[in-house]
Amino acid sequence: MQDKLNLMIPGPTPVPENVLSSMSKHPIGHRSGDFQEIVKKTTEQLKWLHQTTADVLTITGSGTAAMEAGIINTLSKGDQVICGDNGKFGERWVKVAKAYGLEVKLVKADWGQPLDPNEFKRLLKEDRDGKIKAVILTHSETSTGVINDLKTINNEVKSNSKAITIADCVTSLGACNIPMDEWGIDVIASGSQKGYMIPPGLSFVAMSKRAWEANEQSNLPKFYLDLKQYLKTSNKNSNPFTPAINLYFALEASLTMMQKEGLNNIFARHARHQKATQEGIKAMGLNLFTKESFGSPAITAVEPENIDAETIRKLIKNDFDILLAGGQDHLKGKIFRIGHLGFVNDRDIISVISALESTLDKIGELKIPIGRGISKTISILNNE
Ligand SMILES: *Cc1c(COP(=O)(O)O)cnc(C)c1O
Repeated sequence: MQDKLNLMIPGPTPVPENVLSSMSKHPIGHRSGDFQEIVKKTTEQLKWLHQTTADVLTITGSGTAAMEAGIINTLSKGDQVICGDNGKFGERWVKVAKAYGLEVKLVKADWGQPLDPNEFKRLLKEDRDGKIKAVILTHSETSTGVINDLKTINNEVKSNSKAITIADCVTSLGACNIPMDEWGIDVIASGSQKGYMIPPGLSFVAMSKRAWEANEQSNLPKFYLDLKQYLKTSNKNSNPFTPAINLYFALEASLTMMQKEGLNNIFARHARHQKATQEGIKAMGLNLFTKESFGSPAITAVEPENIDAETIRKLIKNDFDILLAGGQDHLKGKIFRIGHLGFVNDRDIISVISALESTLDKIGELKIPIGRGISKTISILNNE
């Protein structure tokens, strides 16, 4: 039989049928009036999603392009920055910053632990001459399923320095509340294949007024990712280069779908699925890798005791056509990760928990009577 693949990795995420079909037509001219209408509409929709009146610019490129754009458009060679690093994507920020010759101070936490806001505070207070120009961090650390306390960290930045805050919100935007203006975040990077529910290929950078002020001073080299060009053309409902036109069709369709559901309903759905997943995992006797209090709404990492996590992941793929993510780097074989981000419904959660319980039973690793996990999951889904 053909595979009936269910993607439960933290990106790419499943794409709704209407979004898929919106793309299956000929591209239109990117300087045409019809396309300008789409750019105009999606730009407004993106501001809605970011809860901002600031500029949100669309780049053809993966999420990392938006991260890189955030750095090179606001900073200058030799600038000091603080990077939060508690996982693979925190490491990526450090690599990008170093690639452009920035002087990086690290705030680290073990993989699976959140970044401590007090450490940011301490470094910022030490910096009496105001040398630190930016605080850069990942909101939802996809590699471990940890959500960092962006709001509190940004408050420390704002009360102790003039630095801007640059946040990777790739797996938190569209999963939990990130009121950009209310919190005062300066740069937010995100990517299409995550909460947006569209295929990979577009990324987004939101730039506050302070981020544009920083842009005036910035001397890092840029051409394709020069956001001033994106702003100039965005103001005319256009793009500097040929964008991924068909992905714009998808973007319009998915953001329209999201607007119909409403931000609060989207956040509540993710929180409910997160809880139903976490509780089901615990009830079948498996360990969560990340404490619930700082678990990401997009992804739950599981650390099975005495069983190779890759064995479980492979069986779930082979027997159920559900694709889970493995552990990265030193966590390979130690954890597997369940993505519950974007176009996910109760059936997906019930399937993955049942599949896990069935798999543990098959390999003789279910230590408690079968059904405890799924009954817990169902009771949460039915009562919350
Ligand atoms: C997926 C992801 C990215 C973007 O990765 P790309 O492969 O460049 O799209 C960045 N940060 C986080 C936290 C992610 O999960």
